[in-house]
Amino acid sequence: MNIATPTLPASSALPAIDPAAGARGLYIGGHWVRPAGRQSIPVVDPSSGAVLADVPDATIEDAKAAVDAAAAAARGWRATPPRRRSEILSRCFELMTARTEELAHLISLENGKALRDARGEVAYAAEFFRWNAEEAVRIRGEFTLSPTGANHIVVDYEPIGICVLITPWNFPAAMATRKIAPALAAGCTVVLKPASETPLTAYALAALYEEAGVPPGVVNVLTTTTPGPVTAAMLADPRVRKLSFTGSTQIGRVLLAEAARHVLSCSMELGGNAPLIVFDDADLDVAVEGAMLAKMRNAGEACTAANRIYAQAGIYDRFAEALTARMSALKVGPGTDASTECGPMITPAAVGKIERLVDDAVSRGATLLCGGRRPEGAGFFYPPTVLSKVPHDAAMAHEEIFGPVAALARFETEDEAVAFANATEYGLAAYVFTQDLARGLRVARRIDTGMVGLNRGLVSDPAAPFGGTKQSGLGREGGAHGVLEFLEAKYIATRL
Ligand code: NAP
Repeated sequence: MNIATPTLPASSALPAIDPAAGARGLYIGGHWVRPAGRQSIPVVDPSSGAVLADVPDATIEDAKAAVDAAAAAARGWRATPPRRRSEILSRCFELMTARTEELAHLISLENGKALRDARGEVAYAAEFFRWNAEEAVRIRGEFTLSPTGANHIVVDYEPIGICVLITPWNFPAAMATRKIAPALAAGCTVVLKPASETPLTAYALAALYEEAGVPPGVVNVLTTTTPGPVTAAMLADPRVRKLSFTGSTQIGRVLLAEAARHVLSCSMELGGNAPLIVFDDADLDVAVEGAMLAKMRNAGEACTAANRIYAQAGIYDRFAEALTARMSALKVGPGTDASTECGPMITPAAVGKIERLVDDAVSRGATLLCGGRRPEGAGFFYPPTVLSKVPHDAAMAHEEIFGPVAALARFETEDEAVAFANATEYGLAAYVFTQDLARGLRVARRIDTGMVGLNRGLVSDPAAPFGGTKQSGLGREGGAHGVLEFLEAKYIATRL
């Protein structure tokens, strides 16, 4: 993302990011809490399989303490003038930006993504603080005359209350800041539960928020090996009014059912199965570049990743050849190596799933154009892979691949492309490549997803509403919509 940043103190003038902050304990009420004798959760480097650190395993009692801390801080934070909240959020942006390199290294270490992707994530994650610092002072109410002319309608937008935030491992910084920044802008206090695979970034950022002036208890962070009962205990607390979750559709369904028991407001950013459509009239270079970005950002471990790539008959062979050349030239290695373009997968299980999907597609008639074989040695690697003529009944046409595998299939007509694109329960993102703008807009409108990249392989932008239709979720994050998810409309009926 190319966004101008303000002049900041040199990174060396600031205290370093603490990569082992999580080892100090759960972050509750502004304290690092590590109860003696408590079990811990090992954090593994996916490039080697080595344990990097371990973080505490929170119990239901810890979760209750975190909600207590969020409740104790709620009144003060809600009463903090929006301008002051805005300044603190701006400071979070500045500190994150100044420490881009350290944060990127930490993300790369625990998640495995290539440093260039990690730097992109830090810029994206920090931008949610800048954007929401601007939103914090622009939350408007309404004052209107009712149609009868007799009464006035006053609408205030109030912080919704204490929020439970749950995030996945694939963007350890951005998925958290995309929730924390608008929640704080709205005047809410939060408890964040990051993914067990990548908690170090979340804890390092907690220390940074404190340094930026976020008061104790406004942001609390805990990790646990028992997310079901720990989350259920928090959602059952009547002081909690909001659940904002990013993760798989499978867990999203479980949490929606749990939240329904307490009639909680829910924002759900769930799984995807993005189609990428290349029409005959597309600019080949633009389409290949876009497909590389849509497929290979984070080595394919993205909810917006192009999961199914449909190319029209007239461009199919040239597109497949050019994409295969680019995919097979990618440098695979540990994320923290500066030259790496494709890092390891998050776990051995993730590699196993990709292998299963590739084997299934090949057994149903797909052709392997490159990759497709897991390398020997340490680390959870899978090579960039291109499959041609993937049949519609292949498992990967319906499940998230979440890895560096491009699944190509051919189509003939626009109607056929739209039908293929919509043949999924997911509706997060889609990509369309054509030089005919009218066709591009027409097809974008016919595809049932929350977001469409038109001649672009990247849709994520803190200034735009991110989210899905169908089983990809509920609500939007980012843009003017993001902060609304953390506000409740209060209507006051009055006669002057
Ligand atoms: P996941 O397995 O659903 O886990 C997501 C989070 O939920 C983790 O913090 C996990 O904790 C927690 N969790 C698991 N079981 C839970 C339960 N019973 N109650 C409460 N929390 C529970 O997803 P993931 O594998 O981390 O992430 C990949 C998925 O996220 C993909 O499907 C991807 O498409 C989706 N995603 C969506 C978006 C979006 O914006 N739409 C963005 C990024 C990722 P533990 O780690 O401790 O299990």
